Amino acid sequence: MKYISTRGQAPSLSFEEVVLTGLASDGGLYVPESLPQFSPQEIASWAALDYRELALKVIAPFVDGEIPDQDLERIVNQSYDGFRHSAIAPLVQLGQNRWVLELFQGPTLAFKDFALQFLGRLLDYILQKRQQKVVILGATSGDTGSAAIEGCRHCENVDMFILHPHRRVSDVQRRQMTTVLADNVNNIALQGNFDDCQNIVKAAFADQRFLPEGRQLVAVNSINWARIMAQIVYYFYSAIALGAPQRKVSYSVPTGNFGDIFAGYLAKRMGLPIDQLVIATNSNDILHRCISANDHSKKPLQHSLSPSMDIMVSSNFERMLFDLYDRDAAAIKQMMEGFKSGEAMVLSHASLAKARALFASGCVDDQTTLQIIRDVFQQSEYLLDPHTAIGLHAARKTQTDLTVPMVCLATAHPAKFPEAIGKAIDNMSVDLPYHMQDLFTRDERFEVIENELSAICAYIQSRL
Ligand SMILES: *Cc1c(COP(=O)(O)O)cnc(C)c1O
Repeated sequence: MKYISTRGQAPSLSFEEVVLTGLASDGGLYVPESLPQFSPQEIASWAALDYRELALKVIAPFVDGEIPDQDLERIVNQSYDGFRHSAIAPLVQLGQNRWVLELFQGPTLAFKDFALQFLGRLLDYILQKRQQKVVILGATSGDTGSAAIEGCRHCENVDMFILHPHRRVSDVQRRQMTTVLADNVNNIALQGNFDDCQNIVKAAFADQRFLPEGRQLVAVNSINWARIMAQIVYYFYSAIALGAPQRKVSYSVPTGNFGDIFAGYLAKRMGLPIDQLVIATNSNDILHRCISANDHSKKPLQHSLSPSMDIMVSSNFERMLFDLYDRDAAAIKQMMEGFKSGEAMVLSHASLAKARALFASGCVDDQTTLQIIRDVFQQSEYLLDPHTAIGLHAARKTQTDLTVPMVCLATAHPAKFPEAIGKAIDNMSVDLPYHMQDLFTRDERFEVIENELSAICAYIQSRL
């Protein structure tokens, strides 16, 4: 399997190479040259498989023999060992044909564990084989950092540096990162905001000469293809549990960078009978405006109760545009460069029609989010986190066929967002899951560093 850039001017890569790469050299994102196809008979034959077995079926064609079967099987199996529920991704029924897929049973209580537990092990395996060491550098506003740290803390060939904005992430989120005391894990509290963190990371990627000979930076955000790939699995797993391929299933996905829902789109292209795919956004609604009004223009960032979706521009949408424009890389390059220089992006008639046939969309503000958390708790004594509540509301607003099961992806555990829960329901507090009960008594380690690229580079050098 070859991987190609959405902008058409970077070399195509093998699977292992694409795992070690972030952005393509032409500024594009890597996608598989073609998608594996599964027939209804084949999907039906997977009905008795558990999550790990199914993951291997879905992932193997993308790896395409580059990693021997037994090794890939071991990597996949170990990736889900840290989950606290034997179903890995359990379905919970909320109402008639309405389901929640709990993707928060992993070590850091958010769906990002599905991809990052896998990516950490995959990286370590590939690097071991190549006798190579890399440096992971990432910025986080909360969930990505802890999931990446948990995923890579045991990697012998990876040193990690995760920047978070000093005093601007929640206590739970910070402690999930800073109480991991492994030698290769370095938490940096930057004296700046999240944008400052991202700018420093981008600048470091652009000029890596500060690194020792032979080292390179690797990205762990969802521009990394392996993350998207691992997320395709739970669409298959949940749809089969609800009767696919004989029965269609719909999904509503709380969306920020468009990684998670893009995985759902790929599952559909690979043969899963998905009916609706709902893009659910908070008030940072660029994707909803794009689908509903062909308005893909930047607006100032708003801080919401669902911080993991506080994103101005969704990086993975470029992968979607590539398909909507029939893989015309030259057109994508032109559009993306125009957008970067400040133009609003306007989709062609044909591609907008395709997008609307594939996706419904909805945007949900903070007040409605709180209302939904309150209502669902009153109706079912089930506690939604704010991101999941947004997905549920968008699903209710857009669902066209009530005979098709609608699955709302629960992307985080409510205990990660106690403030929002307290605002939604009086006197409500949420306990951390059992394995994290001692989070607030564990030792922390992090370095507070000024908002200067040179200071960050010097710190990294001193820790390698
Ligand atoms: C990252 C995240 C999202 C957004 O996922 P994308 O793949 O960026 O669209 C939604 N909810 C939670 C809790 C997250 O951590």
